[in-house]
Amino acid sequence: MTADIIDGKAFAATMREKIAAHVARLKAEHDLTPGLAVVLVGEDPASQVYVRAKGRQTTEVGMNSYEHKLPADVSQEELYALLDKLNADPAVHGILCQFPVPAHLSETEIVARIDPAKDVDGLHVVNAGLLASGQRGMVSCTPLGCLMLLRDKLGSLSGLNAVVIGRSNLVGKPLAALLLGDSCTVTIAHSRTKDIADVVRGADIVVAAVGRPEMVPGSWLKEGATVIDVGINRIDVEGGKTRLVGDVDFASASQVAGAITPVPGGVGPMTIACLLGNTVTACCRANGLAEPEGLTA
Ligand code: NAP
Repeated sequence: MTADIIDGKAFAATMREKIAAHVARLKAEHDLTPGLAVVLVGEDPASQVYVRAKGRQTTEVGMNSYEHKLPADVSQEELYALLDKLNADPAVHGILCQFPVPAHLSETEIVARIDPAKDVDGLHVVNAGLLASGQRGMVSCTPLGCLMLLRDKLGSLSGLNAVVIGRSNLVGKPLAALLLGDSCTVTIAHSRTKDIADVVRGADIVVAAVGRPEMVPGSWLKEGATVIDVGINRIDVEGGKTRLVGDVDFASASQVAGAITPVPGGVGPMTIACLLGNTVTACCRANGLAEPEGLTA
């Protein structure tokens, strides 16, 4: 069989249109413009690309983008002073600090410093706890994007066997909680899992969030499984060039799966779209307004 391609790029574009329409309504009816502040520490080239893309897409949907670039040797006190200022600023509804940060700063402590109501990355322990206990909080963008693609493709996820490969706080754990919330039977696999191929073979839904190029071959999959590939890995190819691949071997997996996300063009575009959606949601909550439908879990 040849799998259906799950087009995250197209889904994200439609989502951005809905977000732009909602932003326009907030302006017209409430004189409100959602604002997203992004903090970048240092000069990491990949982070600069991500921050530029976030800023551009934020303004394209009509929201305010506030970029704060700090030198790589910024002190913890200076960074925290900025976060405190952004926490207190009513024009800022979402705050994210682009990771990784230089080694003298703690990512865990940075996240803890952000007001959970403005934590549009959904990484604060308050938001992780709300998600784990099935309550309303801010949901991490990449797992939220994966859930939206799965719901769109499969409709109800109730009763399906889902295997999430990877147990990071950023992707694997929150996604497992979301799938459980949708009544999947969830297994989390990781680097210590015994016979991972056997675990994956029982899954109706396979999500790979590992960071290992093309680790999951088609031979691990159940016929017709839905595969979400979160991995983004740059590999060397001929002629000194590089290419992006996922954690799933697309060539063999697409012969067995029922549906699969490509890399690039699958989960990646959903992450920024969900970040924008979370910022609109945070703005509505901060102002006691009804939340737009379809932007969160
Ligand atoms: P991470 O924090 O490094 O976590 C990787 C997870 O994979 C860990 O739980 C690790 O297990 C597990 N793992 C490593 N080797 C394994 C193996 N051989 N078999 C089974 N499990 C193994 O990575 P992450 O932040 O979750 O990101 C994962 C991937 O997604 C990366 O490629 C990243 O670039 C990509 N990503 C993409 C987006 C997007 O927007 N598309 C967003 C975020 C991340 P242990 O816990 O046992 O070490």
